[in-house]
Order: sequence, then C-alpha cells, then structure tokens
Amino acid sequence: MMKRVLMMKMNLMMKRRSMMMMILMLRIMNWKNWKRGQKPERKPLKNRSAPVQHLAGWQEEGQQGETDTVLSAAALCVGVGSFADPDDLPGLAHFLEHMVFMGSLKYPDENGFDAFLKKHGGSDNASTDCERTVFQFDVQRKYFKEALDRWAQFFIHPLMIRDAIDREVEAVDSEYQLARPSDANRKEMLFGSLARIGHPMGKFFWGNAETLKHEPKKNNIDTHARLREFWMRYYSAHYMTLVVQSKETLDTLEKWVTEIFSQIPNNGLPKPNFGHLTDPFDTPAFNKLYRVVPIRKIHALTITWALPPQQQHYRVKPLHYISWLVGHEGKGSILSYLRKKCWALALFGGNGETGFEQNSTYSVFSISITLTDEGYKHFYEVAHTVFQYLKMLQKLGPEKRIFEEIQKIEDNEFHYQEQTDPVEYVENMCENMQLYPLQDFLTGDQLLFEYKPEVIAEALNQLVPQKANLVLLSGANEGKCDLKEKWFGTQYSMEDVENSWAELWKSNFELNPDLHLPAENKYIATDFMLKAFDCPETEYPVKIVNTPQGCLWYKKDNKFKIPKAYIRFHLISPLIQKSAANVVLFDIFVNILTHNLAEPAYEADVAQLEYKLVAGEHGLIIRVKGFNHKLPLLFQLIIDYLAEFNSTPAVFTMITEQLKKTYFNILIKPETLAKDVRLLILEYARWSMIDKYRALMDGLSLESLLSFVKEFKSQLFVEGLVQGNVTSTESVDFLKYVVDKLNFRPLEQEMSVQFQVVELPSGHHLCKVKALNKGDANSEVTVYYQSGTRSLKEYTLMELLVMHMEEPCFDFLRTKQTLGYHVYPTCRNTSGILGFSVTVGTQATKYNSEVVDKKIEEFLSSFEEKIANLSEDAFNTQVTALIKLKECEDTHLGEEVDRNWNEVVTQQYLFDRLAHEIEALKSFSKSDLVNWFKAHRGPGSKTLSVHVVGFGKYELEEDAIPCGEDSNSACEVMQLTYLPTSPLLVDSTIPITDIRAFTSTLNLLPYHKIVK
Ligand SMILES: [Zn+2]
Repeated sequence: MMKRVLMMKMNLMMKRRSMMMMILMLRIMNWKNWKRGQKPERKPLKNRSAPVQHLAGWQEEGQQGETDTVLSAAALCVGVGSFADPDDLPGLAHFLEHMVFMGSLKYPDENGFDAFLKKHGGSDNASTDCERTVFQFDVQRKYFKEALDRWAQFFIHPLMIRDAIDREVEAVDSEYQLARPSDANRKEMLFGSLARIGHPMGKFFWGNAETLKHEPKKNNIDTHARLREFWMRYYSAHYMTLVVQSKETLDTLEKWVTEIFSQIPNNGLPKPNFGHLTDPFDTPAFNKLYRVVPIRKIHALTITWALPPQQQHYRVKPLHYISWLVGHEGKGSILSYLRKKCWALALFGGNGETGFEQNSTYSVFSISITLTDEGYKHFYEVAHTVFQYLKMLQKLGPEKRIFEEIQKIEDNEFHYQEQTDPVEYVENMCENMQLYPLQDFLTGDQLLFEYKPEVIAEALNQLVPQKANLVLLSGANEGKCDLKEKWFGTQYSMEDVENSWAELWKSNFELNPDLHLPAENKYIATDFMLKAFDCPETEYPVKIVNTPQGCLWYKKDNKFKIPKAYIRFHLISPLIQKSAANVVLFDIFVNILTHNLAEPAYEADVAQLEYKLVAGEHGLIIRVKGFNHKLPLLFQLIIDYLAEFNSTPAVFTMITEQLKKTYFNILIKPETLAKDVRLLILEYARWSMIDKYRALMDGLSLESLLSFVKEFKSQLFVEGLVQGNVTSTESVDFLKYVVDKLNFRPLEQEMSVQFQVVELPSGHHLCKVKALNKGDANSEVTVYYQSGTRSLKEYTLMELLVMHMEEPCFDFLRTKQTLGYHVYPTCRNTSGILGFSVTVGTQATKYNSEVVDKKIEEFLSSFEEKIANLSEDAFNTQVTALIKLKECEDTHLGEEVDRNWNEVVTQQYLFDRLAHEIEALKSFSKSDLVNWFKAHRGPGSKTLSVHVVGFGKYELEEDAIPCGEDSNSACEVMQLTYLPTSPLLVDSTIPITDIRAFTSTLNLLPYHKIVK
C-alpha cells in the first residue's frame, strides 16, 4: 500500500459549496516573508493530550460523531519547530508548546483554556514537528470569540512560571516514557542518529526530565529563562499562519482576528532557515544494513533512500507517482510476488509527509515490508525483488497512462469528498499556508497538477541499491546487537551488505519476469448521477426485508447528495463464542479471507472503494463504502471469496504465526492488557486474550479451520444496513446475494449479541497483575464504578457527570499530581451495563500503582465537594454544551451511518437515540447530578480497580531497561501473575487473586439494552 496520507484529505469542495460556512484564512501581519519549501505533516508528532474514549467491548464499533460537528474552530501554525532546539536543551520547542497552556497574564489559571473549552463543548491540542508547531481548538460558536481571545494569549503573554515548569516537565517526561516502547518511534530515532554530525535531523526532539530539568540544573542552565528567550525569538507573528472557521460573516471574523491577534509581538528577525543543510544522510553510516531488536514480535525490512527535498515539485508529486506503483498490491506488484512466496504480509511505500520524513533539508522514500518467518530468512531476496521492480520502473520511465489514472482518482476524491471535522480542516489549512502559494492553499497537497516525466524520472533514478539504507527488525537479532541508541535504548548492530549481494547489486542484474506495471483499473467510477427515490423518504433506516435468514435496514440519502454508498453486514453465529479455540479459528478465518482478497480487491481500494472485514465478538462484520457506481462489484467479490473460502497450508501457517505475534503484542501492552483483565472480570463467558493465545500456541490445524468455516457458513443470521445513493431495489439485492451465495440455514433460536455481565458485590475490589513486558516501565491503573442495568435517562446523566469530571481530572491527576500523560475519566457501557471509570497511565519508575489508586480516590472525593458546590449557572452551561453537541448536524454521511450501524450491530434499533438523550438532558436538575454521583460512592459502591503493574523501583525492582521480545518468552505471557496488596490498600480493598474463582460466585445481571 502506498502511504495513504494524500488520500486522507478533507472535503474542500463541500466546504466551498456550503455558503453558510465562512472560512477566513489570514496570515498574520507580514506577507512578505512567506517561504515555501516544506510539506505539511498530517499526523501530529506529539499530542499534548489524547483523551481516548474507551467504550467497553460491546460498543467498540463506535458511537461516533459526537464531536464532529458545526463547531467553530481555529488553528495556528508557528513556522518553527524542534530543528530550532538549542544544543544544550534538547526538547525545548516541544516543552514550550506545553508551557504556553499553563496560564497567561490575562487569564492566569493553569489549564484555564482547557477548562473553558470543556465547559463549552470544545477541545484543543497541539503538536511540535521539525519545522512547525501547530495549535488548534474547537468550541461552540457562541463562545468562539472569547475562546480566540483566551487562546491568543498563548502567543501574546504566557506566564510560564517556574513552579508550573517544574511540574509540566513531568508531563513531557511521561510522554517520552510512553513513546519509548514503540518500534516506530525507535526506528525514527535511530534513523535520525545516522545524520551527519551537527545536522538537526540528529536532535532529540522529544525532551525528557533529564534534558529539560536535571542536566540543565547540573550545568547551571536556567530552563525558565531559556523558555522565555525561545518564545521571544521564535513565537513571532511573522512566522505564524492562522485559520479560523465559523458561521460568522467574513467581515466579523476579520474584525475579531485583527483585534485579538494583532497584539502578538513581531520581532522582525529572520525565520530560522535550514534549507542549506541538504544531504543530511550523505554519510558512510547510511548505506549499511542495520539489525534492530524490536519491542513487538515482528520481522520487518525497511529500505530507505534520502532524496533532495521534493516539496518544490508538489505540482507533479513524483514520490506520489512512485509510491503508487511500489505500494501496488495487484497482479505484477512487489507485494503480490512476495505474498505468493509466503514471504510478506504487508508493504508500505512512500513518504509519510511528517516533518521528519519531508522538510527543507531532504525527503525520505521508504519501503517497509512486514515479513513472515520464511520472509525473514530470505530478506536479501526480498530486498532484491524491490530493487528489480525499481530497476524495471527506471527502464520503462514514467508512463502518462499511470499518471493520468492517479490524477483521475485524486480528482474524483477531491470533487466528491465528504466533510471532515472543522478542527482537522483548519489544522491542515494553516500548515498548507506555510507551504503553498495562495492559489494552491486548498489543493496543493492533494491534486496532481501537471505531468512532467523528467521530474519523476529524476527522483526515480535515485532509488538504486547503492544508495539504500536497510533496517531489519527481528527478535532473532537479540544478543547479536552490540550498539545502543542513546535516547530510546534501541539495541542494534551495523554491518556491510553481504558481499555476494553487494556485487550483484553493483552489476547489471536481471529483471524479474513476474513483475510488471498494473493493468487498467476497472473500479474507477464514471457515473456520478444521483438516483431517484423508489420508496417513501424516511428520516431513519427502515427494515425492508425480514426473513428467518436475515433482515435489511435501508435509508436512501437525501441530505448529503453525493454519489456514494455505505453497505454493512453482520453475519451472526453462535459458533464463535463456544470455545477459546473457536474464537481463534474465527480470527484466523477472517485474516485469511482478508489475505485472499488483498490482491483481487486492491484495484477497488485504490479507486476509493473501501472495504473492511472485522472479526466481531458474535459475528463477521463486512463494511463496504465508496462511489456507488462500481460498489456492487466489490461487494460481490467479497461474498464470492467468502462462499468459496479456501486456504493452502503455507498461508495457514503464515497467518497463524502472524496471529501469535498479534496476540503477544496485545498482551505486552499494559493498556490493552488492563482492558482485557477488566472485561474478563465483568463479562462472564468472555474468553481472555491469554485463553486465546494458549489455544493458538497449543496448535490448530488447517482441517479444523476448514470444518469451522464450513459450519460457520451453514447457519447464520444476517443483518444489513444500506445507506446512500442506492435504491431500495438495489439494496434488497445485496442481502439476496449473500443469502443465495452462501445458501445457509436460519439459526434455531434467536441469539443475543451481548455477553452477560456479573454484578459486582459492594466494596472496593482490587485485581493487581504484573505487566507482561519485563522491559516496560508503564503501568495502567483503572478504577471502575459499576452502576447496573440503567435507563437511557440515567445513561445520559452519567455522560453529563463524566463531562463535568474531565477537566478537573486532568488538572488534578496530570497537572497537579503529575501522575502521567494519559489521564481520563470515561463513561462505560459494558454489554449494556452502565458504569464509569478513571484511568491513569503512569510509570513504575515514578509511582507505585496503589499510590495512584489512592490519588484517584482522592480526586473523586475532591470532585464530590466540587460538584456539590457547583453553581446553577455552571450546571446549566454544561447541560447546554452537551445538548449542543448532540444537536450538532452530521458533517458527512459516514457519521450518520456509523450511528445507525451502532444501533443495528447492537440490536437496539433506537435510531433517534440522540433526540431521547436531549429530552432527558433538559429534565435534569443540579441535585439529580449530585445525588447520582453520591449514589455511586460511599459504602454501597461497587468498585473494581485493575492495575497492570510495570517494572521500576516504585514496584520494588530495578528500573526497567526496555528490551526486546526474547526476554519475554512465549510461556511467560501465557498466565497472569497476581500481585499481593501492599499495606497501603490492604485494609480498604478486597483482593482478586483468581478471576475465575471470583466471578463464579457472583450473580449475573440480566441481558440489558439501553432503549428506554
Ligand atoms: Zn507533548
């Protein structure tokens, strides 16, 4: 697959069409110093906060669309990033990005801006990249002007007091600790270390307590003064670009922006320029083979070239053209060939367009291949296949036919895009303003403007073996690696490419006859007509087919008016949850089916017809979306492959080996392990990840898979939803196609698509287990309060409660107590049973998990007081904010479909849920909220703490040294190690030291749906 950054773009056309929405782009003050030469990074390198909503398993499919709304939004990009870090204070730019949030002269409260936004249904974030720093927020329109004024103070007069600096450095440190056990981050850090000495690519952008606090203290460096100095030098108006979007008139917006933002100081100093530092990787260290020990269980080969900066060629997009071909998965492609050999599972190629991969000094072109065990043994041959393909491309030269096909697909995408989140839109746009001339702000990063073969050829001809850097990730490298990366501790070794291969690659080696250019794509839509209704218009989906074998919900779109459709099916079977082995066989089945489809369906995928197969808890979920013209072709292809499912022993082995790695990788992450443990306790009859891992390691045969699949396909209940530019007659055909092709019997009895949940006894239960990755300092602490079988009204009250909790929780646990980077309360719907929880990700090198648990309790007590003293006004403001969020219109059809699909897949069918929730919200008083919270606390409360305990001195161990997989043998992750409670919590908690023994004594709550 090509790195898909360019394709994940937002709907510019839709925005332009919608006349109500005014977009104001405004470059602050100085238009002259405009400089291009960089590319926008799409994914923030470092999020300040990323509060993930964790809904329990049952709803994981996603109740989305609550914040994607017609909120007003703004984003500001400072044209300076981590490249400008001083050598003696690594991470200073990133630290400053954090510090401007900590109060200003005009609004001195720490996190005051967050608190203001939370109160008014908004959110904010920021990220620091190599040459840019971006801040963005959204909020209800009514509060937009005030929010702008508060936010602008970050750039007008932030306080940055010493005490706050001391505490916030811990948040940056936690962010670094969290980032450490990630192979992607490690690979990047190692790559940076290969840069020429003194080149900014080699800097440590993250920063940590060592570089920002302890080292400076030792060397008499005043971080406080240096932060101010950095701010004054680099947060200057003439390097800033700003985008605001709101329903105000352009004149009003312009007036506001001028009034508020013209106070930002402009020092007139030249913008730091790194454009002269080209060829950062023109070093002997670059063209080598690096063996690296990864954190996860994975074999992967990455081949990388460092090219001259390509931003200037954005009208041609040569790397886009090349990655289109290199990442192709159809017949004749690299991946197709490697898959047939059972050597590779996936391939990504191209430039990710982060600041790290493309900046004013260079551009990356890289190809990453996930290898099988066999592929690892043949990694030189794998690399050779890549080089053969590139040599073929160089010989053939650029082809106009291919360029025009890509151009056509991008044009279609652009013209019929669906709207995205305003905040994403402004974020992207303020970066585009730093990169493109005015006329290309909206299109510069997406469209291919002109075909210039010589520009493509120039980039293409650089991609030769002699200039490549090879990185081989594998646990098998453990023990063979004598080097260690300075910041993340990655173990690696450096060697020359084996002589025989080096010689071959120097010679005029032969092309591979199995590799060739892709044929013409038959999935590119050409009919964009909107269809007429063939049945009455409805606001919500209507059941148009209902038989013992299945039913179909249908709604023709009449709102977004785009030539696209969404088709979703749930193939429900009681067979899946019968045993842990069945759950695993089902996983294997879905993985092999996906593998089998990869090549035939790839063309559809690149023509923006997307599909996804998901192994749900109780059934197979098939999702298809895109231009409706050719969509039935893709849907039928998937059903055909399902009906004629088959596998070879080699593919079976490859996929099961891969699944072992996947399970293992889930188990060694404290966050995912904590979720598994919590759900294992709550959802009776659920199979744990460890059960599944064990079943898989015990060995399953291809025969058992084939008989499982046969049985699965023979008896089902199929439920579908079709929405978009499709008639009801066409929709009925989708269900008919499934029923006819699979020819299955109906289920003998109706089955629930939920787990039954245990009723927790009163008291505070504590389940404390050791993390399974010995090298990982991260701990995860979740304190969960069970509420029970509740009504829709009570569910809404819980949502309101959690909304009130969010900002105080962040302020208390993260800012004041500095317990960790990820800190959040959340409303939990566990198979229909209501509850809420507070989660803190911390590090055993800093805190003991029981101390964190105590602090969470302390927070909840302080919150109880806070909420009791809440003013009527503040209560009403929050209610209004939540109502506004729920009233917000969908910005694209996908949101509406997601919401409806969630009702179908959970068999609740309350399509007008939001209206009911809004009605409920209007009926609440402050005392309802206070009493509701009180009812969950105190002696009768049903509390469950889950601790996954990391490795470090606060857990009575030496500090952890992140290390690779071999220190975690397979059998070590096959069971949980329960830890005893320490004196701190021993009197106040009831330990759980055997989950099955504990849950088998409990009452089961009845199946419950939240529909009234
Ligand atoms: Zn950060």
